[in-house]
Amino acid sequence: MATDRSFNPLEMAQRQFDTVADDLQLDDGARQLLRTPMREYHFNIPVRMDDGRVEVLRGFRVQHNDARGPCKGGVRFHPQETADTVRALAMWMTWKCAVADIPLGGGKGGVICDPHNLSSREQEQVCRGWVRQVARDVGPNRDVPAPDVMTNGQHMLWMLDEYETIHGERLPGMITGKPVGMGGSQGRTQATGYGVVYTLREALKELGIRPQDTTASVQGFGNVAQYAIELYRQIGGTTLCVSCWDQRDQTSYAFRKADGIDLEELRSITDRFGGIEREKARDLGYEVLDGDQWLDQDVDILIPSALENQINASNVERISPKVKIIAEGANGPTTPDADTVLKERGVFMIPDFLANAGGVTCSYFEQVQSNMNYFWDAGEVLGKLDQQMTAAYLAVSELAQHGGLYMRDAAYVLAIKRVVTACRDRGWI
Ligand code: NAD
Repeated sequence: MATDRSFNPLEMAQRQFDTVADDLQLDDGARQLLRTPMREYHFNIPVRMDDGRVEVLRGFRVQHNDARGPCKGGVRFHPQETADTVRALAMWMTWKCAVADIPLGGGKGGVICDPHNLSSREQEQVCRGWVRQVARDVGPNRDVPAPDVMTNGQHMLWMLDEYETIHGERLPGMITGKPVGMGGSQGRTQATGYGVVYTLREALKELGIRPQDTTASVQGFGNVAQYAIELYRQIGGTTLCVSCWDQRDQTSYAFRKADGIDLEELRSITDRFGGIEREKARDLGYEVLDGDQWLDQDVDILIPSALENQINASNVERISPKVKIIAEGANGPTTPDADTVLKERGVFMIPDFLANAGGVTCSYFEQVQSNMNYFWDAGEVLGKLDQQMTAAYLAVSELAQHGGLYMRDAAYVLAIKRVVTACRDRGWI
């Protein structure tokens, strides 16, 4: 979600699509079909509050395209949610599932609310109310929701329970992000961060660089960042710097150690929101740097894994000439202006919707396991994830090399081509 409210994510998503549509010389029918969602549902959710009042919340589900398979995408609870944000995110999910080559389309949902101001019972009512409005329009073979901003596994279980009560049968493949033991998949916690490193490992191989000769700087120290750092270390890399947001000071800090950070040590002084305790880090010998200095470190690899719009026109020039690869763990961490500069500089970009597709790929595995009611161990899940991510990376990089394209452009071309082909094969366009 953009922090600047004047920024319209749908316009940005449509601009990106138009550029690729021009390159691919798509006809009008294909453009019209893919520029906007196929279906969307907007509805009221009446919620009985703890004090007896009824509050009416606004909810959405957007199904952008399901030519390649059932729609897939999270449900966000956010006080500033807008229909256009949900539409844009649904479109990006279509491209992400297509680039990862999983048989799913793109969807997204949301409710305008702030869960911080809702009791647990009230949140349960929101979840059940949301499902009552879309119970005929989502499902294992139609559209499969998942957790997203400010929603979690408990919310998913309440939604599943309401859905199964309405339909009168157990249908655990209707939703993903369920807790392990209640239909969730092993490996989901690691999936996004590990996925980033599976693609990074392949990029290093292609560029002829040994991982053990590389260093990295990482923005963020949450779920994606920590597991990316873990696997990067396992393949031999050294992370010199990480950063986080300090809730009390409302600013960010970076933590640096010349011979590499110690992941377990830093994890032990990190809260559940990914915030690192500064005093304790200093005691452990870390240099604590103000602001976004994770960005100007003399490293080979940058892994932005915190938020959108972090590498932008105002700071892109600070990136060291030593940086060869950027692997985007976060969604939209690089603005289009900064991206142009990086492209001209010849930085090797592993774009967000390829690099962080490990999350949705593992959600797809959860859906498959739930549908067949047979669950795999973590080794099997991560092995399959590696295979899928590696294949996705290689398809994009082959297109980039043959077509002389920047990796982000190649990923868009590949994704949009796959979706257009599915629409054509079905006879829609
Ligand atoms: P998280 O909440 O677990 O961690 C976020 C981290 O970023 C925290 O360490 C926080 O302190 C840090 N942070 C926030 N603002 C910062 C700033 N200005 N400077 C430095 N650090 C800052 O979140 P996450 O699940 O790791 O997700 C991170 C990004 O990855 C988001 O863009 C998310 O949309 C994207 N993503 C996540 C997944 C997933 O499976 N978790 C999948 C795909 C994409």
